[in-house]
Amino acid sequence: MSCIFCRIVAGEIPAEVVAREPEVIAFLDVQPLADGHVLVVPRAHAASVEDLKPAEADALFRAVVRLAGPVRTALGAAGTTIGINNGEATGQTIAHVHVHIVPRWEGDGAGSVHTIFPRNVKRKLPEVGAAIRKALGPPTRDGIDPARRPD
Ligand code: AMP
Ligand code: ZN
Repeated sequence: MSCIFCRIVAGEIPAEVVAREPEVIAFLDVQPLADGHVLVVPRAHAASVEDLKPAEADALFRAVVRLAGPVRTALGAAGTTIGINNGEATGQTIAHVHVHIVPRWEGDGAGSVHTIFPRNVKRKLPEVGAAIRKALGPPTRDGIDPARRPD
């Protein structure tokens, strides 16, 4: 098994684990951007968000919601920045989905999500909206893409 996060899930390599749930594990980032930098990881290997099964996605975001408050409280933080590098081009270095929860404080010198983008916009909103709606297809009853529905 070559995926480092699969190996942490399997207990083959150590990590500072803060939560173990049936479908999700959370542990401290070994090179934290701030004290309390947590990675929330589905136990099942999925390279990107698009590869998550509906139940895995549910469990992952539920774990993020459950951890956000305790991470903030434990570190005495004012907030948290929560994010996913989704795909190699975005800076994802480990091809196993993981949600970063990074505690934040007033004046900590870090920016908002907006500060990572140079605002390189070329297309009009209606044109972009139409393209995304077309790619998305018709609305579904439960938000699950029929092509990826389990069973
Ligand atoms: P990303 O760039 O979104 O793929 O983030 C990968 C993160 O995983 C980085 O912040 C690394 O510091 C972290 N990381 C890499 N190896 C380990 C490890 N063995 N245990 C904990 N965190 C790790
Ligand atoms: Zn993996």
